[in-house]
Amino acid sequence: MRKKIIIANWKMNFLLDQAVDYVNDLVKKVGNKTTVEVGVAAQDIFLSDLVKLTSQSPVRIIAQNAHWENFGAFTGETSPKALDNIGVDYVMLGHFERRELFNETNSTVNLKVRRALNNDMNVIVDVEELEQVQSVLEGVGPSQMEKIIIGFEPTFAIGTGMSASTKGAEEVAAQIRKTLRKMYGPEISQATRILYGGSVNRQNLAGLIKQTDIDGVLVGKASLDFQSFWELVKIIHAYS
Ligand code: PEP
Repeated sequence: MRKKIIIANWKMNFLLDQAVDYVNDLVKKVGNKTTVEVGVAAQDIFLSDLVKLTSQSPVRIIAQNAHWENFGAFTGETSPKALDNIGVDYVMLGHFERRELFNETNSTVNLKVRRALNNDMNVIVDVEELEQVQSVLEGVGPSQMEKIIIGFEPTFAIGTGMSASTKGAEEVAAQIRKTLRKMYGPEISQATRILYGGSVNRQNLAGLIKQTDIDGVLVGKASLDFQSFWELVKIIHAYS
């Protein structure tokens, strides 16, 4: 059984007080319930504080990016080793905005994925299309796949208010699982979680989460208001 997961991708939003209030509210509401995994992808600058707030909670604090080297002359970058060192053990890599605005490619995303895994981090690796799956996972061994979650986020749906259709999203998720099966065999492909992202909201979430191959969602805009995000968590809960 794959546990359902919902991730708030805050992107570059909030000030520290807002981030702290939100996560405090989330920690309270989630309590010690672990039927659904709930995560928040926050700006680096907040991570250290947020990780402390969640030390006794199942809520995951996730970095939105990390470099492919642990140390070195990379001004302005964040080391995966330093993330791990402050207690952040989840990182999201290859988000569409990183690719579109900061020139990330499948090969840099792949380097980052491998480095994060070498630091024993859990990785949510985002792809916008099926064809990217193989490239971003190149060199990732079967034993490392338990640390990988695939986020499928079609470009046209991110931040546009135009979600993929339920059927379309499921079709791609099923194809991704088929690709994983070819790469890693049936057991690993069945165990790997595949998330959909792109204009998820209260209207479309139930339809998406009921699909066989969709194990959760990445939520951008609709996660920026705590109440609206919590409504989505409740929907996922109802279908878990
Ligand atoms: C995202 O950018 O990860 C995302 C899912 O954004 P939105 O929900 O705003 O489309």
